[in-house]
Amino acid sequence: MPPPAPYVMAMTLHIAFDNSYARLPERFHTRQAPVPVRAPALLRLNTDLARQMGLDPAALGSEDGIAMLAGNLVPEGAAPLAQVYAGHQFGGFVPQLGDGRAILLGEVVTPDGTRRDIQLKGAGPTPYSRMGDGRAALGPVLREYIVSEAMHALGIPTTRALAAVTTGEDVFRITRLPGAVLTRVAASHIRVGTFQYFAARRDTEALRLLSAHAIARHYPQATGALDLLRHVIAAQSRLVAQWMGVGFIHGVMNTDNMAISGETIDYGPCAFMDGYHSRTVFSSIDAQGRYAYARQADMAIWNLAQLATTLLPLIDPDREAAIEKGTEALHAFPEIFKRDWLAVFRPKIGLADAEDGDAELIHRLLDLMEKEQADFTNTFRALAEGLPGAGLKDRAGFDAWAVDWNARLARQDGAPQARMRAANPAYIPRNHRVEAAIQAAGAGDLAPFEKLLQVLERPFDDQPDHAAYRSAPTPDQQVHQTFCGT
Ligand code: AMP
Ligand code: MG
Repeated sequence: MPPPAPYVMAMTLHIAFDNSYARLPERFHTRQAPVPVRAPALLRLNTDLARQMGLDPAALGSEDGIAMLAGNLVPEGAAPLAQVYAGHQFGGFVPQLGDGRAILLGEVVTPDGTRRDIQLKGAGPTPYSRMGDGRAALGPVLREYIVSEAMHALGIPTTRALAAVTTGEDVFRITRLPGAVLTRVAASHIRVGTFQYFAARRDTEALRLLSAHAIARHYPQATGALDLLRHVIAAQSRLVAQWMGVGFIHGVMNTDNMAISGETIDYGPCAFMDGYHSRTVFSSIDAQGRYAYARQADMAIWNLAQLATTLLPLIDPDREAAIEKGTEALHAFPEIFKRDWLAVFRPKIGLADAEDGDAELIHRLLDLMEKEQADFTNTFRALAEGLPGAGLKDRAGFDAWAVDWNARLARQDGAPQARMRAANPAYIPRNHRVEAAIQAAGAGDLAPFEKLLQVLERPFDDQPDHAAYRSAPTPDQQVHQTFCGT
């Protein structure tokens, strides 16, 4: 279906779209062009990412480019659509959700051969908007921009931010806020909830197509639905372990916010912890602590069990046999996660090889940190930098731990410092910095946002000129809650 009348095709934008999702049957999506906005203005273009994707930053920054990033112009070759999905939200099943404020423009195959979705978030209402306005406010757009790019720099799989534009229109979220659109880039936007949508309708044919599509895009080595499940289990285990290694709390691990690709997706009320506490929750809507820091692996396997359920008809025509195979794959998760968690945390205390007592040794340090809610990032970085007691107040407790730690280090080869520096970032997107950057941007000053992005590009480097960005928040700077990006 062609885009509606107000659109003109850009002459300067040559994007080699290849839209494999749009080629899936009509029940996978709704053709929907973005709804134009009043006055698009570019806030930021991720020129590095544009180049990596084989896109011309100059063209993206041109008038046509900005119009495209705002949804005012649909480039040639795009096949704009809203994806449909379902999902368990805080444990309750919603049989139909879908992109309520996001439009998938299409896919490009980047010069390195990987396929990437280009999606506009905040691009206007769709048939899945329910009561929402289809728009995004500036604050959440900048938050997702900062946090997703920081996540990428930390080496953790994530969707990325290609651009942020303002719309010249206001949105209403209790108060009037400036509107914005984020251009999000992802390996795909296929979610556990996408499978659930078709499973809830007993549409086995669609499940078969979706499974084949997901395998081709993300796990070409997978031999079938059961193997797809195993790959997603492995990817999610690794992802959650990596989140935990940097003190990240996703905040809304609903099944519609879990990507089959294993990328971090849907940055809403997420945050990096300052003071360490395993039950930390930031989301203003997570009163029960369902998605607390230390519960994320449990929630991942809960979601993966939902995925397994959707795949049963593809795993084996004999339902009992399918359940047995799916269950066996799920039961491997605790062991896989334990291994992934150790693979993340061992280097954080300088370990290069494996010994039986390592998990206990790491947990003893975490317990010391938790008792005084020591800053997660700074404590591990202090360990890497050899700061006495790693900056902990309980010096006696640390020294007692360090006796065993040093004995453990002595049983392996080589100095641990470089390993620890590479595993323990100095810079994370601290909430108070993110909030300050958003506040300033709202008042028209983009300098703090730009500066923060620049510092977070090199999280493992010392950057002595930017040491202030390492500081934990003072009590009055502390952010205790983050809000959904709606
Ligand atoms: P989230 O909790 O942000 O992952 O969003 C859950 C669902 O609500 C998704 O299907 C979104 O597309 C939809 N949604 C969120 N914000 C809006 C909005 N402002 N307008 C329409 N739909 C929205
Ligand atoms: Mg979502």
